[in-house]
Amino acid sequence: MTVNIQTVLDDINQDVRNQFDTFEGKVADYIPALSRMPADRFAMAVYGVDGTFCHTGDAHQRFTIQSVSKVLTLTLALQRYGDSLWDRVGKEPSGTAFNSLTQLEFEGGKPRNPFINAGAIVTCDALYSRLSAPTHHMLETLRSLSNNPRLTINAIVARSEFEHRHRNAAMAHLMKSFGNFENDVEDVLRAYFSFCAIEMCTTELARAFSYLANKGEAVADGQHVLSSKQNSQLNSLLFTSGLYDASGDFAYRVGMPGKSGVGGAILAVVPGRFTVAVWSPKLNRYGNSSAGIYALEQFADRLNLHLF
Ligand code: GLU
Repeated sequence: MTVNIQTVLDDINQDVRNQFDTFEGKVADYIPALSRMPADRFAMAVYGVDGTFCHTGDAHQRFTIQSVSKVLTLTLALQRYGDSLWDRVGKEPSGTAFNSLTQLEFEGGKPRNPFINAGAIVTCDALYSRLSAPTHHMLETLRSLSNNPRLTINAIVARSEFEHRHRNAAMAHLMKSFGNFENDVEDVLRAYFSFCAIEMCTTELARAFSYLANKGEAVADGQHVLSSKQNSQLNSLLFTSGLYDASGDFAYRVGMPGKSGVGGAILAVVPGRFTVAVWSPKLNRYGNSSAGIYALEQFADRLNLHLF
């Protein structure tokens, strides 16, 4: 199994590098600190529930995880609130951009799902109410799950995000005006941006989120992260909403639950088999890594992993 997966990954790496220029889009620049990442980078890592571990390309290159952090934010909130979290955030695909404000106004300040910005920010607010040091807790959890005690937050990116926070701040204030926000907006945004600015590489990402493929238990040490039922539910939401308003296209092409981030990472899950992390910073118009989606589609095709 290991040999096959490694060969497939190396083939995909070569294939992607041969056609870098043809991938749609550009590196995110609405957060200025992100725009410094070179576009021609690619990495992919696979972590199996049997401990199989393979990677290719710039697999140890660090990047900020951005919206992939929303998966852990939701995990930590579900641990504390269970189903009552859904009083504050929905479970439906949004069909609008990750940072859209319009739907939020129409729908009374309740975001469509926890993977668009408004939904993640309100989930972060919920966590903020239950944790005395949410950023520390998030970082420590990722350190433990990825087995790297030295993970850090990129302070330059976090600051840049805070300085350019206006759209995210508008969402938070709008939710507050509807009574769906408990804490100080600026405090919660600082925590949210810190979560987004945690730096990881693909190998750490694939390992940290192994519980998603393993009924809620971390593969390496059996750490119980979510109940099996909650884990299934989280995967369902990733499948329907993990790639913003391109979730349908990703489901069609790749056929796996996944979560993207504007740093260029995509985390995908093959339930019962493995987590796959891919990274390449050039984003398509939906804010998803173009090469990342291509690579995952190749991976799903070569190993026949499409869920349906
Ligand atoms: N930190 C980014 C923001 O709030 C995350 C967006 C993303 O990765 O989709 O805009």
